[in-house]
Amino acid sequence: MNVAGIDMGSVATKVVLLGDADEVLSYTVASARPDAEALAWSLLNQALVEARLKREDLSYIVGTGYGRYIVPFANENRTEIMCHAVGVNHLFPTARTIIDIGGQDSKAIRITKDGRVRDFVMSDRCAAGTGRFCDVMAKVLRVPLEKWGEMLATASKRAKISSTCTVFAETEVISQVAQKTPVNEIIAGLCESLTSRVLQMAQRLGFEIEPDICFTGGVAMNAGIVQVLKENLGESLLVPEQPQSTGALGAAILAKRFAMQGKG
Ligand code: ADP
Repeated sequence: MNVAGIDMGSVATKVVLLGDADEVLSYTVASARPDAEALAWSLLNQALVEARLKREDLSYIVGTGYGRYIVPFANENRTEIMCHAVGVNHLFPTARTIIDIGGQDSKAIRITKDGRVRDFVMSDRCAAGTGRFCDVMAKVLRVPLEKWGEMLATASKRAKISSTCTVFAETEVISQVAQKTPVNEIIAGLCESLTSRVLQMAQRLGFEIEPDICFTGGVAMNAGIVQVLKENLGESLLVPEQPQSTGALGAAILAKRFAMQGKG
């Protein structure tokens, strides 16, 4: 039985197809665009081609993410919090806390050993502490996100970025560049700033981060942020091979469960 999960995020849309043994048959991802429905269809079709399947070979489809209500072909939808919990539990059964940093928000989610959500906290509607913060700074500094890990590793110091607001932090970064602060030190400071913003959000809301901890969402592909998060939470921090696909993976696993319950 083949199923699909689709995560329509604020920054990227992701599709995961799962096969009989819950193995990933294909994974497709693309940046969000205004014609979200067309994008969803095109990513689904691309995933089907990669998996050598046809639309009728899919028994069930679950949509998640910010735009889950507009997935034209989903049988059902579920919140991204639930889907991340299910996806992480599938990949790392020992995980009890998820730190999910996406394009538009960040969340800390506590889960049971069965992958059920115990409680969660979420960032306010603000770009700080999200992928958007990194995207803005990557553009200002002209350093692609893929290079942030390397930049952090070669920085002898970490610049102090004191503004938590993305707009003010951008001004701070521009003035640091003007003062000839090396770019790798600024990137290192930005990694510190984003990480502490997310951890402070959890602390402020009295959220207890319980091990094992798993880092998901597109920002978990940023090696600089992963490194600073490890310095704060321990080297044993779990990071999926494709962290950005975790929500779509969880949606696909739920699709399999629903199909097996005879909903398909
Ligand atoms: P959403 O679900 O809200 O669309 P994602 O979980 O897809 O968000 O994460 C999007 C964020 O992931 C982007 O804002 C960007 O900062 C980060 N990102 C995307 N690709 C990469 C990459 N190759 N390396 C580092 N970070 C990345």
